[in-house]
Amino acid sequence: MISEETSTTCPYCGVGCGLRVAQAPGGVIGVQGDPWHPANEGRLCVKGACLGETLDLGERLLAPRVNGRGVGWPEAVAAVAEGFARTIAEHGPEAVAFYVSGQLLTEDYYVANKLMKGFIGSANIDTNSRLCMASAVVAHQRAFGADAVPVCYEDLEHADLVVAVGWNGAWTHPVLWRRIEARRHDGERPKLVVIDPRGTATARAADLHLPVKPGTDGFLFNGLLDFLRREDGLDLAYLERHTEGFAETLAAARESAPSIPAVAETCGLAEAKVAEFYRLFARHARVVSVFSQGINQSATGVDKANAIINCHLATGRIGRPGAGPFSITGQPNAMGGREVGGLATQLAAHMALGDPEATERLGRFWQTDQVARAPGLKAIDMFEAIAAGRVRAVWIMATNPAVSLPDADRVRRALEACEMVIVSDCVGGTDTARCADVLLPAAAWGEKDGSVTNSERRISRQRAFHRPPGEARPDWWIITQVARAMGFESAFGYERPAEIFREHARLSGLDNPGRRAFDISALAELSDAEYQCLEPVQWPATRARPGGTKRLFENGAFYTPSGRARLVPIEPRLPATPPTPALPFVLNSGRTRDQWHTMTRTGETARLTAHRAEPYAEIHPADAAALGLRERSLLRVSGAEAEVLVRAELSPAQQRGTVFVPMHWSDAYAARARVGALVPPVTDPISGQPESKCAPVRLERPELAWHGILWLARGSLVLPELEYWARVRETECWRYELADRRAPPDWRAWCRARVGEAGEWIELLDAGAGRYRAACLRTGRLAAVLYVAPEPEGVDRRAVAGLFSEARLSHASRDAVLSGQPRRGAETGDILCTCFSVGETQVARAIAEGCDTVEALGAALGAGAGCGSCLSELRERLERWPLGAAQG
Ligand code: SF4
Repeated sequence: MISEETSTTCPYCGVGCGLRVAQAPGGVIGVQGDPWHPANEGRLCVKGACLGETLDLGERLLAPRVNGRGVGWPEAVAAVAEGFARTIAEHGPEAVAFYVSGQLLTEDYYVANKLMKGFIGSANIDTNSRLCMASAVVAHQRAFGADAVPVCYEDLEHADLVVAVGWNGAWTHPVLWRRIEARRHDGERPKLVVIDPRGTATARAADLHLPVKPGTDGFLFNGLLDFLRREDGLDLAYLERHTEGFAETLAAARESAPSIPAVAETCGLAEAKVAEFYRLFARHARVVSVFSQGINQSATGVDKANAIINCHLATGRIGRPGAGPFSITGQPNAMGGREVGGLATQLAAHMALGDPEATERLGRFWQTDQVARAPGLKAIDMFEAIAAGRVRAVWIMATNPAVSLPDADRVRRALEACEMVIVSDCVGGTDTARCADVLLPAAAWGEKDGSVTNSERRISRQRAFHRPPGEARPDWWIITQVARAMGFESAFGYERPAEIFREHARLSGLDNPGRRAFDISALAELSDAEYQCLEPVQWPATRARPGGTKRLFENGAFYTPSGRARLVPIEPRLPATPPTPALPFVLNSGRTRDQWHTMTRTGETARLTAHRAEPYAEIHPADAAALGLRERSLLRVSGAEAEVLVRAELSPAQQRGTVFVPMHWSDAYAARARVGALVPPVTDPISGQPESKCAPVRLERPELAWHGILWLARGSLVLPELEYWARVRETECWRYELADRRAPPDWRAWCRARVGEAGEWIELLDAGAGRYRAACLRTGRLAAVLYVAPEPEGVDRRAVAGLFSEARLSHASRDAVLSGQPRRGAETGDILCTCFSVGETQVARAIAEGCDTVEALGAALGAGAGCGSCLSELRERLERWPLGAAQG
């Protein structure tokens, strides 16, 4: 029986879906999309739908720890405050830093920024959002005079043409993608052009896919600008009235992209495809260009984003329904961090660092004379400063840089050598937490109260429906306690997040007669009860427009000193780190469909690991053949200083000479799969955003003597001696995929050393062939199963894992446990539809039996009828296996 329902928001991506969480006295009984939330109108993707499964304590950090010792909050707070105070006294404020996260709520972010930039007096606070959208921030500032996203989600539905640039929305922002898809399937069909080196799920759905050479997007959009000039596609009146810089911008565009053949050559595209894209853009008045990490994560990310924006400004395709450039953020509150000054390069409320007027205003408002006057260290520079000993104390909040930053091994070594590392997080086992001197238990999603801003500037409340367990506390509370202990009691007297939000809203409106885009002064006087009930609202929300603002720049006025938008001349450059004879492949990294960041939550959910269980690399079949690799072979990917070992996935949609490795796997889930370790610390010179899409690497087939699969009912194994292991959550057990260069002399002894001696053992050993299978039962229930063979085996892993749910193993199951095969006709294959656990083999069978549309598959299997995240994969299977050709 539902006793309570809480409206809140999803903690994963930048779509910012609204949720309804239903609770009963025993706990959460359901998470559903909020039909009234404008971002998702009731839809959820599979990650959001599985949120209820991430709430158990698992690896939760439940009490503060100082130097490995459990302590109370007063001691932990004193240790942090004294450590910072001592470092500042001895080495100055530039010797300390905060590295924060787009996972923080706006209220957390606000107080962290206030402490560092307002009272410690340094701007050394930067955020992991630097890795995902810093280039878009700078591009907005250059073009519009403010970091302001012009459009809203509705514009995607109004558009005649959607251009997706470096955005695999079908996997990264599934609910927003479904809004576009729904429109297309309603028959209104906004055309879709996808510009992406990879043939992604999004690209498969496109009317036109341009598989550009990695890093050449700037040439493509410069070419578009000149094409629009040649074909009379410019809006000269708009250029005249509302912009500046057009002549120089056009000259630069013509210089670098003088003709369609030249663009096609540089971008590695067919001329006809380039021409078709240009004609589509010119022909449709309502165009939204969605860009994301494929543009931002580049050494020329700012220029690429401005090249896109230039085309919108030159054609007046901005400030009206269905038109505009649209930067989509990766994280749930990357936007909130931008608003409060979470980046080392800006002050709170969109005020500029180094602007004397802003410094004075902020000092007056916060009652401090310590406001930072110069930009602080951006993420990559911050960890270089830690490595060099210039930063001696760092506080890392809600993020895992030892996995996610470029050159991640160096980051980890820097943290291990740093004098003082403080980590506040809700889990204690992350790669970064292992480097901490002080570990602070933070509240998790479901326990936190505050606000977030999504990609369309929409502020929504995130509401708590649980008390934090143990000693866990909200981040704003932890920061506030440390600030008070450092002597800043009066400035950090907050008792609840509503007080912080009101102050943040007041600051946004201070001395702001429309000159700063970020203004939510309409919310500055909310009572606690009104804050609790706050409905989603898009900023600016001023006293003149208290209901918020859907779309910006409708009147053609911008936030530059002249009030005109700026076109920015772009001289595109090829990637800063091209392949070399020693490192001949180009590595691209990104997200998979069902995982989130470093898997600290989504890796703990069996339903979400079913889609992609192990770290993998997508490579072209011809490259794989040249390397002697088959589907699911293990593959070594090496950079200049590090390597990963991952499964090969053969995909003709991957360009030859390139490889894609997802960003999610950390040392907690695999032996060596941290793709960040392969990415050189090369950044955009203006935004500081790393180039994570173009790293040179070498591929090799490793020599391995054996492969194994170990299922364990409980416990987590440490297997440092093995070349390869990957840990996978199953519903009733953990699964370990294993491989190594040398086989142990005695498999029985090896197995018992890891599983324990006790129990009833069922075993098969073929020593000559190097095969061994064993199952261990304790009180009649499966405790462990191990399969070993010289080559990877086609075992139905789900069938074996399913046996762990039997309280007492049946005779039939005892017979089956070492066969590794499901009942005939019950094979599922790799999971495609996570909502209904429908596997590829089932889909193949259904197609062979006559299902020829996704609707028919939905009716037969349920596949695709839940969140819809798998629809593009189902369509791809329907195309790949036309009726009668499927393998049943
Ligand atoms: Fe969460 Fe999925 Fe919505 Fe993103 S699209 S906010 S991950 S439910």
